[in-house]
Amino acid sequence: MRLPEFEYFEPESLEEAINQLAKNNSCTIIAGGTDLVVALKQRLQNSRYLISLDKIPSLKKITKKDDAVIIGAMSTLDDIINYTLIKEKFPALRKAAWDVGSPLLRSIATIGGNICLNTRCRFYNQSLFWRSSREECFKVGGNICHVAKKKNSCVSTFSADIPPVLISYGARVKLVGANEERVIPLENFYSGDGRFPNVILSGSKEILTEIEIPIPQNNLKSCYHKYRMRESIDFPLIGVSVAIQFNEEKRCGDARIIITGAGTGPVEPAQVRGMLLNKKLNANLISDAAEAAVTEIYPFKTTLISPRYKREVAKIIISEAIREVGGI
Ligand SMILES: Cc1cc2nc3c(=O)[nH]c(=O)nc-3n(C[C@H](O)[C@H](O)[C@H](O)COP(=O)(O)OP(=O)(O)OC[C@H]3O[C@@H](n4cnc5c(N)ncnc54)[C@H](O)[C@@H]3O)c2cc1C
Ligand code: SF4
Repeated sequence: MRLPEFEYFEPESLEEAINQLAKNNSCTIIAGGTDLVVALKQRLQNSRYLISLDKIPSLKKITKKDDAVIIGAMSTLDDIINYTLIKEKFPALRKAAWDVGSPLLRSIATIGGNICLNTRCRFYNQSLFWRSSREECFKVGGNICHVAKKKNSCVSTFSADIPPVLISYGARVKLVGANEERVIPLENFYSGDGRFPNVILSGSKEILTEIEIPIPQNNLKSCYHKYRMRESIDFPLIGVSVAIQFNEEKRCGDARIIITGAGTGPVEPAQVRGMLLNKKLNANLISDAAEAAVTEIYPFKTTLISPRYKREVAKIIISEAIREVGGI
């Protein structure tokens, strides 16, 4: 499959990149390109201008600032895996980065690209030739969904490994546009609309520049569990991040459980947080929490796997992840 024609810019400052983005309508940011290049080849992306962030050094830094770690959006997944503070304090983040793709992919793919990843669907992530045999669906500007025929919207699935973990750690992202910059909690970055699943894909003309994660206290325990069809290299069918802050009596002070692969963005089953609050973990509570969590996810058949199977898998890996952080 050939790439379409495009013009390629490599600005050396953030300001220059933002100006170029504001100037052209048919313009897209390229980071590692591991997802975008495939989308270009499949004609899912038709931008005439690509702006690479690769020559902007400030976007590649990882630093500690006060009580937080600041990760530049162009840091590769390998940079994250090898950064000492992340090894020591953010085991779930390291695990999620490690679980993405393959070694070669992790040496190029960036954390910014992972956060901004488009949603996926078996009727969307196909070549133009394959897609042309069917009526165009909502995601490409049509009027139908081939997955959920009665729904009036796109239910394509968010399948990035890292965002659920970042949300469970309370991460915020900095977005810089031509006229303003803002810092928002990562959960607010996702729209819930499968067609335009995040702020950037909704056309905001901003660049995600950095991710700020508060450094957890010692009694915050976290982990990431991923289930995929091919262990060697695959998107998560379901991924679960669990971060529980224990108090001195080993009760749950706060608990965040965030799921990927089960909606158009990362999903947090709200009632589970309340169920665990002030409780000591035990086998029954964990099983009840996992049961409750899957009543709050609504997976669709956007892969060849049935939603019912996904729910069963989710129940199992949520239980396993809570047991791991509780040492049970
Ligand atoms: C074979 C294969 C296996 C994969 N397996 C996994 C997997 O297991 N788990 C997983 O999560 N992903 C997987 N991916 C998807 C992808 O490789 C990763 O999500 C990767 O982290 C994307 O980062 P990137 O830098 O390559 O992004 P790009 O491809 O460069 O960009 C992705 C999107 O983000 C936008 N973007 C990137 N950076 C910014 C920024 N700073 N500001 C604004 N917009 C931005 C781009 O415009 C584009 O829309 C896989 C891909 C392939 C090809
Ligand atoms: S979920 Fe429906 S609208 Fe969205 S990409 Fe798939 S078929 Fe298209």
